[in-house]
Amino acid sequence: MSEAQATMTPPAVCWVRVALDVPLPGPFDYRSEAPVTVGLRVIVPFGRRKLIGVVVDNPAEPSYDPKQIRPIEEVLDDLPPFDEGWLRLARFAADYYQRPLGEVMLPTLPPPLRKPTAYQGKRSAGGPVARLDGRKRKAARAPAAADEPPALNDAQRTAVDTIGALDGFKPVLLHGVTGSGKTEVYLRTAEKVLAAGRQVLLMVPEINLTPQLEGALRARLEALVGPDGLAVMHSGLSDGERLQAWTRAQRGQARMLLGTRMSVFAPLGELGLIVVDEEHDASYKQQDGLRYSARDLAVWRAHDLDIPVVLGSATPSLETWQHAERGRYLRLGLPARARASSLPSMRLVDTRRLQMKHGMSPQLLEAIGQRLERKEQSLIFLNRRGYSPVLHCQSCAWVSNCPRCTAFTVLHRNEGRGHRLQCHHCGYQAPVPRACPECGDQDLAPMGRGTQRVEEHLAELFPGARILRIDADSTRKKGSAEALFASVHAGEVDILVGTQMVAKGHDFARLGLVGVLNADSMLFAHDFRAPERLFAQLMQVAGRAGRHQGNGEVLIQTGYPEQPVYQALLRHDYAGFARHALHERESTGLPPFVYQALLTAEARELKVAQEFLERARVLPEGEWAADFPGLDAIMLYDPVPLRVVRVANIERAQLLVESGSRPALQAFLASWSHHLPYLANEARVRWQLEVDPLEI
Ligand code: ADP
Ligand code: ZN
Ligand code: ZN
Repeated sequence: MSEAQATMTPPAVCWVRVALDVPLPGPFDYRSEAPVTVGLRVIVPFGRRKLIGVVVDNPAEPSYDPKQIRPIEEVLDDLPPFDEGWLRLARFAADYYQRPLGEVMLPTLPPPLRKPTAYQGKRSAGGPVARLDGRKRKAARAPAAADEPPALNDAQRTAVDTIGALDGFKPVLLHGVTGSGKTEVYLRTAEKVLAAGRQVLLMVPEINLTPQLEGALRARLEALVGPDGLAVMHSGLSDGERLQAWTRAQRGQARMLLGTRMSVFAPLGELGLIVVDEEHDASYKQQDGLRYSARDLAVWRAHDLDIPVVLGSATPSLETWQHAERGRYLRLGLPARARASSLPSMRLVDTRRLQMKHGMSPQLLEAIGQRLERKEQSLIFLNRRGYSPVLHCQSCAWVSNCPRCTAFTVLHRNEGRGHRLQCHHCGYQAPVPRACPECGDQDLAPMGRGTQRVEEHLAELFPGARILRIDADSTRKKGSAEALFASVHAGEVDILVGTQMVAKGHDFARLGLVGVLNADSMLFAHDFRAPERLFAQLMQVAGRAGRHQGNGEVLIQTGYPEQPVYQALLRHDYAGFARHALHERESTGLPPFVYQALLTAEARELKVAQEFLERARVLPEGEWAADFPGLDAIMLYDPVPLRVVRVANIERAQLLVESGSRPALQAFLASWSHHLPYLANEARVRWQLEVDPLEI
């Protein structure tokens, strides 16, 4: 506020309630001479610090002694105030995930908008947003040459028409097999909404891996929304780029926002449609800080704004499928591939009776050879990076362990620097010992294989072939993933070896064969969601085969071909798999038939973490019992150590809370999370409460 304005308003005291990113319940009251518009950011003193917060209320009375209430230092009006819809979303997320409002709200903002230092001193020149405007505009990228949009097939047409005719909130499950042209449905639906003057949010799991999509959006929508009308938001952006996207969204300049899970919190005052592509994907779940599900929040936001939301997937989450089965979500199907190509044929290779070569069956090697002859590409999929998952001594029982974690160290081949041992949990690294640390024997051998070792073996087996590996190690440098994928698209690669990074979204024109190496290890993971995840992952990676010419083939190596998940995969039968899996979940009382929350505790010693959890477990039956009505609807399990108990010398345990009723669980968690900080302080443990955990 300028000084002139301040002197014109009669001196009065107004109370302003501000959400701040501090680990205390809040929000906090401040004084000001005039009311401050709800949704504006302010700089306020907090203890000895200055913080940026968001105004959430102008209450008539303060909630504590007025003498202790300090004045606001500065009202920031470099952006329009957050609108009511945005504030409601933040409030809902805070309530639902049991966190203070400010701890939810502030971290959603790009860092420059929540740093008071960005507004202080001469060099700040009016703050980061003003500097952004002052900066010379990057010349808008020339629009990519727009291909003629394809004529929709019948299933796509029905989907576009049905979604287009929706009036208000309705979640739509767009269940389309891989390559069925879901993107085209999103684009046509978005065009209608944009043409009607509303904004569109299109969410994808990992944007860096799908530059194709951004290109397609630009080519198709730029004419409609202008070169600045499309914004992109993801964690790979610099602070400045993120600020620019955010600012454009909040000012309504961005009409179409493409983003990863963080974009669910983008300020879009004229939102008319949300699309969540690959809605089952685990990367919609934030795994630290506020552990939210961007998919679930997207559905809530659409409900709150009374607009349609489209959830697209070839392998929907069982939660979403169950909603569709019960008629809460409208299910639209794209049962066939959009191009004149059939789904790939699936084969299970029973590895129990086979002579394997470096973990690869004769069938797989023969199939790779055939594709090489036909100048087609093959993808070897294996969800394990590094050279081998563990090093072991052939004379004694020594295996390479991380000294800081209850986990093996993984053998890695580092370009030019020989091998090293790395811990995937804490980042610990060590040189490979020359001899066994236990018995001195020099016969140390890698056990099992990761992508690097498979790459090496393939080079031996197919000396003429051009082999490329794509995983987190080969794509560490910024831009390297794009470059590697581009070389696959350009046909410079014959055999691609990769982790789940290659499974997602890509439309490789020449890829004919997919071979899956260690599927069983995913099947027998401890989590009850393991089969669901395996099915989704294998369908997705299989979906890379034969997308353009047809004639695609998928070979899955397994020692358990009779498992229902493999049998369903053989038939491309998601519905059959879901029926079986939901039946099992229902009879064993697992989600989506119950609702869960997970309390995790960390301490130097497991015992301390477990004792805290045990006290938390019995708390509702003790002197605070009156705070917990309806406790009989809640099941509190015994505290147990995590599967990997120790990570970076911290030991972890968890306690599962369950209920058949979501409101009952929410009510319980609200009281419980109120008491937990006191218990945790006494016990000196770190803790976190996760609602709807994906991994248990
Ligand atoms: P999905 O996301 O469902 O796996 P995509 O949207 O990537 O599938 O579409 C697969 C391929 O089919 C793409 O190359 C796309 O351009 C093409 N395609 C989509 N719709 C049609 C159509 N109606 N006619 C012809 N080709 C289409
Ligand atoms: Zn030894
Ligand atoms: Zn470690």
